[in-house]
Amino acid sequence: MHLFGKKKTAEKTGIFSRLTIFLVSVMIVFTLLFIGLFGSLYVSARNNIIQIQMNHVQSSSAKISFYLDTAINAVTFSRQNISVQHQNGASKEQLLESIVIMTDTFMSYIQDNIAGIYGYVYGEYLDGHGWTPDESYHPQKRPWYTKAVQNPDELVYVSPYIDAESGQKCITLSQTLEDDSESVIAFDLSLASLQEKVNSAVQEENVVFAGILDRERNVLIVTSQPDTPSEEYQKKERRFLEEAQKLQEDYTEIRYEGHNYLVCVHPLTGGWDYVYVCDSSALFRNLKSIYISAPFEILVFILVILLVLNRIKDGQKQFTKLLNLSERDALTGIYNRGTGEAKISEKLENKISGAFMMLDVDKFKSINDTYGHDTGDKVIIAVARILEKASRKEDIVMRLGGDEFVAFLDGVSTKQDADAFTDRLFCLIDSAQIPDAPDLHLSVSGGITLYDGRTWMNFQKLYQNTDEKIYTSKKISGNHMTF
Ligand code: GH3
Ligand code: MG
Repeated sequence: MHLFGKKKTAEKTGIFSRLTIFLVSVMIVFTLLFIGLFGSLYVSARNNIIQIQMNHVQSSSAKISFYLDTAINAVTFSRQNISVQHQNGASKEQLLESIVIMTDTFMSYIQDNIAGIYGYVYGEYLDGHGWTPDESYHPQKRPWYTKAVQNPDELVYVSPYIDAESGQKCITLSQTLEDDSESVIAFDLSLASLQEKVNSAVQEENVVFAGILDRERNVLIVTSQPDTPSEEYQKKERRFLEEAQKLQEDYTEIRYEGHNYLVCVHPLTGGWDYVYVCDSSALFRNLKSIYISAPFEILVFILVILLVLNRIKDGQKQFTKLLNLSERDALTGIYNRGTGEAKISEKLENKISGAFMMLDVDKFKSINDTYGHDTGDKVIIAVARILEKASRKEDIVMRLGGDEFVAFLDGVSTKQDADAFTDRLFCLIDSAQIPDAPDLHLSVSGGITLYDGRTWMNFQKLYQNTDEKIYTSKKISGNHMTF
């Protein structure tokens, strides 16, 4: 029995380790699948967030471009208009009148422009806003004039400077006339207005910086700070601008002082670029916690479920063990008296025919006395194993107590069948070898009462009947069964 138990334990351990390997493999596969699945979901969600930011950039750029377009139109339209009028022989007064009308028209679009359309036209300074410069003002020395003349027919931007008329910081767009490369027409773009547009970008969540670069990617405007910016801020700003200035794509991600930033660049009218920087650490923070932790949360959930299932399984095992302990005889493992009697009684109640057999080991006291109590125990165990071996699954085998056993042989209702069983049983008893007592020759005395399943019968009655038969058998030496 000991060896048999060991084999069973080894088998169980084998099954358990195979199950563990299987579960671990399944978990690894699931983990990889989850990481793959959630990884790609994370990447697409991330791209969506970037796309949303790019849409913001686009709409802010469109507003700035509209503003710039109006200024460009003011220059190009008035340039053509003046040239055509001049060719048609218009006087200086007529040209000035047109410039005033065009100024009124364009200033209705760009209200914060206070300088209007002006220029050095065919040797004279004409101003659409009615400003008369003093004698110190030399239009041909002004940057808007010199730069345009240096680049004839090209629409030029003059870097921010203080406008002589308004005293405001502005950028001027200017261009030489079609029919005279010495004449230049100009229109001012208020820097304050562009500044306001750039500043409004950082009002949006996670946007940390915005700015405008000119055609040569020189910095025109950056978000202004309410207070004097710290050295660190200026350093950070320089880094953003450097990245934007060299950027070839729509956006790039950079890491600066432990933070990630999304630097986006979008083209504006006239070859300018709009720069927009978001704090991508903040932008993707929630996303990371959702998508990166989700597979691990699911895995933890699965692990908890597995653990709970395992605990339930352990509980079931424990319950079965306890049930077995209460149902079984501690020494032999076969049914104890209480359970055996109940199971046989159930069969009798259901009128199941069978042979009720009782066995008693011969001279067991002297076995105990001669070989010791331990060997006596081994004899009891050996008889139990033999009974199990001789019976079938549907039979009930129990230890009544001491060296007495009972078996109910299900369906055995003829003497012939009962004899066949007895022969098998006695054959096994005869050849039984008891460890520690090699010279011991076992014999048993038994009695059998057949039950045909037709009449009422109970355990007690069968017991009494059969017990008497054992006494008869005891009178005959060696294995004997009385019917
Ligand atoms: P008989 O041939 O007439 O059956 O005589 P016997 O010596 O076998 O006498 P009996 O059947 O009355 O013996 C029962 C003995 O079994 C009494 C008790 O000491 C012993 N015994 C009861 N339970 C155990 C047990 O669990 N282990 C061992 N080793 N002995 C037990
Ligand atoms: Mg006995």
